[in-house]
Amino acid sequence: KNMRKKIVAGNWKMNMNLQDGIALAKELNETLTNEKPNCGVIICTPFIHLASIAQFLNQDVIGLGAENCADKEKGAYTGEVSAEMVKSTGAQYVILGHSERRGYYAETPEILKEKVLLALKNGLKVIFCIGESLEEREAGKQNEVVKAELEGSVFNLTEEEFKNIIIAYEPIWAIGTGKTATADQAEEIHAYIRSIIAEKYGQAVADDTTILYGGSCKASNAPELFAKPDIDGGLIGGASLKAADFMGIINAWK
Ligand code: PEP
Repeated sequence: KNMRKKIVAGNWKMNMNLQDGIALAKELNETLTNEKPNCGVIICTPFIHLASIAQFLNQDVIGLGAENCADKEKGAYTGEVSAEMVKSTGAQYVILGHSERRGYYAETPEILKEKVLLALKNGLKVIFCIGESLEEREAGKQNEVVKAELEGSVFNLTEEEFKNIIIAYEPIWAIGTGKTATADQAEEIHAYIRSIIAEKYGQAVADDTTILYGGSCKASNAPELFAKPDIDGGLIGGASLKAADFMGIINAWK
């Protein structure tokens, strides 16, 4: 397989209190420090967990990330958390553009563009999520949708900036539904995504871009998905909340 970085990233969403989150991170930390994984591993946690977890996490084997950050630098934005604050906890990554943020919190391509710029400016790497709804897939519009999402929020970046972007393709109809895209369906659109990155930034950048699949990925279907040439790992929701489940997916790279 190609040489680009393979990654399994967990998205904890709004799950686990601080104590439970620390316990899960400690368990993963110990397991992955003892048996080095064959891929990069990242956990993205609620904001309030970050500083505590960063204290003990061996970031040589597990990266730490937030699930969101603000679209403003600082100031009178009650309840928001800035990219600089995220970075100052010791986290290195941030998920942006998740379909739950786009859907439930009305995050537009314009807002996401600002968030991406602020994340990069503050030294965070971005896991940028794209993906179509069931209706859009049934209308055959999936390629159009992911292209517009990339053009709307990340294709404004310079080539140097774009190197800090990890793409996560997450068909909305597969998130938390138990319905996974087939490996062939996922591969087809991953290859398309890589081709439009190549058109924009050139083949070398496209070949180096990690493109994750997300949507009901679990230990049982990860090997088939990860065997595809353009699928470089997964962004994992539900199955990242238990160490054994998450390790099962990480071990799909063995
Ligand atoms: C996600 O929301 O990023 C995700 C992939 O969720 P799940 O694995 O639970 O479908």
